[in-house]
Amino acid sequence: MAVDATQPYDDQNVFAKILRGEIPNRTVYEDDFALAFHDINPQAPTHVLVIPKGSYVCWDDFSARASDAEITGFVRAVGKVARDMGLVAPGYRLLANTGLDAHQEVPHLHVHLFAGRPLGPMLAR
Ligand code: 5GP
Repeated sequence: MAVDATQPYDDQNVFAKILRGEIPNRTVYEDDFALAFHDINPQAPTHVLVIPKGSYVCWDDFSARASDAEITGFVRAVGKVARDMGLVAPGYRLLANTGLDAHQEVPHLHVHLFAGRPLGPMLAR
């Protein structure tokens, strides 16, 4: 079920539960601003999700409401995860589904990090 990107934040969403330690995850990286963990249903050899620690529904919410420190910290964390995983030279893809047409499923901002094989066209045709 896709989520409406304009809805208020729901603190019962699965990534909020992961952040609170109520659901286990395979953590790749964590700092004050971000948590990165393996996707439960990987779509590529490497499929990591990077989420901000703050309560933001989606990219729109984050870009509008997050502090400069949160935005800087999150963007740097995404880059660091890819760098530390050795993905810069082979290359990787970032994706942030936002709202209905993008079929965002979890209403807490997450950036997908895909890598580990040639990733094909940007969108299904
Ligand atoms: P979206 O469609 O919202 O961009 O992507 C949501 C992603 O979250 C999907 O790739 C899905 O596999 C992943 N996901 C959903 N529930 C869980 C979970 O409980 N743990 C982990 N690690 N990933 C999850």
